[in-house]
Amino acid sequence: MPIQSAKGAYDILPNETYKWQYIESIIREICELYNYKEIRTPIFENTDLFVRGVGESTDIVSKEMYTFLDKSERSITLRPEGTAGVCRAYVEHKLYSELNYLTKVYYLGSMFRYEKMQKGRQRQFTQFGVEALGGEDPSIDAEVISLAVNLIKKLGLKEVKVAINTLGDKESRLKYREALINHFKPEIDTFCGDCQRRLELNPLRVLDCKVDHDKPSMAKAPKMVDYLNDYSKNFFEKVLKHLDYLGIEYVLDHNLVRGLDYYNHTVFEVMSKVEGFGAQTTLCGGGRYNGLVEELEGPNTPGIGFAFGLERLILSLEAENIAIPDQNFVDVYIVSMSEKTNEIAFKLQEELRQNYIKCDKDYFNRKVKAQFKSADRYNARFTVVVGEEELENQKMIIKDMIAQTQEVVEINNIVLELKKRLEVK
Ligand code: AMP
Repeated sequence: MPIQSAKGAYDILPNETYKWQYIESIIREICELYNYKEIRTPIFENTDLFVRGVGESTDIVSKEMYTFLDKSERSITLRPEGTAGVCRAYVEHKLYSELNYLTKVYYLGSMFRYEKMQKGRQRQFTQFGVEALGGEDPSIDAEVISLAVNLIKKLGLKEVKVAINTLGDKESRLKYREALINHFKPEIDTFCGDCQRRLELNPLRVLDCKVDHDKPSMAKAPKMVDYLNDYSKNFFEKVLKHLDYLGIEYVLDHNLVRGLDYYNHTVFEVMSKVEGFGAQTTLCGGGRYNGLVEELEGPNTPGIGFAFGLERLILSLEAENIAIPDQNFVDVYIVSMSEKTNEIAFKLQEELRQNYIKCDKDYFNRKVKAQFKSADRYNARFTVVVGEEELENQKMIIKDMIAQTQEVVEINNIVLELKKRLEVK
């Protein structure tokens, strides 16, 4: 059997790449609008970065990392997410050195997690994420959420909702943690192994459990809002007020805790509401992570960010029947009538390209009919027919593939005539 792609990894074939390029171009456009600059960090990092930066209690670190020893026995991990690498780069390159400067960056790239495969969940997947580092103002939280919402809008997605919650500051969370442990402890033996393990490590994650989701004690669990200190309460109210200023609709979800250990204060998700979308409805997850940079031995730096999965964005566009513009066309397809005209056709092709006319031609000495079939396949706007008879008179034929009309033009004018028709400058 021929070798196949590794389980969980997949090819994006030439007839699909336009979807990715389209979404990527909109992402870049929006990031530019918000003055976020692209950052490209390595695909592999020292394993320690994720253990410290993502957190040992997370599924990502405890079960899902692609970790291996390199030839010098260093433990290396393929990045499972983008925030840790960005924060490492922020510390390593001292991007914090300017006072009162908000570092706003975005990334686009492959992430790797050894997860159970299902629709919308691969082992290699692509994330677009932003990080705003160095600012603690609640308006930044709202700005980051608005960037995510505007991406959704610009893509034309309608069936989405924004869910938001606060995890409060450290003090509030410690109190809440204790309350959760006390609440779940008496019956933790009836919960799944993950929950039992998480209860002491990170009890908030018990609320997130898919297995024990419907247990009555879940619904009765203490709520974070009741444990927020004044600062945290105030902070969250300001975030919501700023979202209101922007007219962004959201739902408060007290059980939204997010899978990563580093979050505090604002956490949010953008979810698809389309029917039949599958189990993985979260398109984007994000939140505040004040303290993470310090954890990585940088200065005390507040931060907030999010990450979208591009595969899920494409799935939701398809589920909402939104067409992605396909750039699959050539301006001109050159049809060569015989072997004798091939040389001229070949030279003409180069000349057209020098003049920014997108073109292609036959490589197999195929019959004229087959060449016209190729022209259709490439959605050629025009064909140029190079025939022996016409060449003798220094002429070529331009055929308009939409109007199905044709004209004979002087060889010397061919580029000009095509440019005129294509409106190329
Ligand atoms: P996370 O980094 O887990 O907060 O995930 C952020 C977003 O990345 C999710 O909402 C998904 O859109 C996407 N994502 C996470 N894991 C996967 C995966 N295994 N396959 C595809 N997309 C994923």
